[in-house]
Amino acid sequence: MRAVDIIRKKRDGSPLSAEEISFLIKGYLEGGVPDYQVSAFLMAVYYRGMSDDETAALTRALLSSGEKLDLAGVQGIKIDKHSTGGVGDKTSLIAAPVMAAMGIKVPKLAGRGLGHTGGTIDKLASIPGLRTDLTAEEIRENLKTVGFAIAGHSAELAPGDRKLYALRDVTGTVESAPLIASSIMAKKLAEGIDALLLDIKVGSGAFMKNIDEARALARLMARIGNENGVRTAAIITDMESPLGRAVGNSLEVKECIAALKGKGAHDLMDVTLYICAWMAHLADAVSEDAPVRKMSDTVLKKYRDEIMDFIEHGDAFKKFVEFVDAQGGNPESVFNLSLLPRAEHVKPVLSPWRGFLKKIDAFQAGQASMLLGAGRKTLGDEIDLGAGIILGKKPGDPIDAGEPLAMLHTNRPETLNEAEEVFLSGIEIGDREPARRKLIHEVVL
Ligand code: URA
Repeated sequence: MRAVDIIRKKRDGSPLSAEEISFLIKGYLEGGVPDYQVSAFLMAVYYRGMSDDETAALTRALLSSGEKLDLAGVQGIKIDKHSTGGVGDKTSLIAAPVMAAMGIKVPKLAGRGLGHTGGTIDKLASIPGLRTDLTAEEIRENLKTVGFAIAGHSAELAPGDRKLYALRDVTGTVESAPLIASSIMAKKLAEGIDALLLDIKVGSGAFMKNIDEARALARLMARIGNENGVRTAAIITDMESPLGRAVGNSLEVKECIAALKGKGAHDLMDVTLYICAWMAHLADAVSEDAPVRKMSDTVLKKYRDEIMDFIEHGDAFKKFVEFVDAQGGNPESVFNLSLLPRAEHVKPVLSPWRGFLKKIDAFQAGQASMLLGAGRKTLGDEIDLGAGIILGKKPGDPIDAGEPLAMLHTNRPETLNEAEEVFLSGIEIGDREPARRKLIHEVVL
């Protein structure tokens, strides 16, 4: 077999066999197939797509590049959630401690920021000392003591996705359903979990721009999860505007800490509570060995109330502090937020008009945040952990001309003007109060 023949075959739209996909991925990881050939392959997949069987084969090839966490010695039900990527999407850092407070274990493999979207591993890098390069043994230990652990890709855990993820980020091949599905599912199947909740983002700030694409991705990923013995459900949630008020790494960590203390923005809490309710619902299905069914409003309310209790009584926040400590971070920084990275330069973006804020385009906000230093333009870029945006207004709010829409934070003042321009290009202001957008679109089982 030769890599070039496999690339040609995909380029010409013929389906690949599982052996061909495995040959290419294995060769890439072992060094026999170079970056430039895999880049060409990724671009061919981007344009030609993959069948469900090819995507499942790519997932298996990525999964078998590393080890699967053996969690047999960890008591309790293990569940994770994963988002397909968004702007201001920080729900994992709230949901994991909530679940741990409820006695549900969360072994999480997460990624760095991809394209204009943020990544959990970058957000956690803003907590001084906190390590995400955990070994399998450390993950098991933290699951036993804290109840959740968050780690990045490593040589043993999902190494195939680590390499491919980084290459996709710089070759314009992120926005591809089979590549997203296999990337996420290879990580999730390596976690040794009992159930998985997928949060498929749809809208301008997501990789899936319309509901049909999001639904197809949700079905595909749920199928891969369920076929591999992991009860998997997917929810499709809105990503037309950034979630919550903060975009950027340490700014988002601060927002999560506030949310864990019961002071989260409405949209952030609505989506996070829905995610947590679904994780709890999946945990119940696992413990009862029952099929996963849709949730009635009454059951949803019961879970939401229970989850809010864990937040309001401080249990979830306590778990977050324990997590920071267990992963080598300075727990003091959770109480004294001035210990987290901050930006020297803060500039308001003023509203050019009076009216009602109709839209803050999530893609433009993500791009502006990246320009300020919160994300990478190329693989080797250093992130400015204190950079990002704080939204002063949310869609639906009234605003006066000259009133601040947002604050731009950066340690690279030369980026401020361009970031402001990009952010403003995603703003729409109208005369009338707009209808509120639905945050939760659908559930796919
Ligand atoms: N998250 C991932 O882990 N992989 C993707 O491709 C997109 C989002």
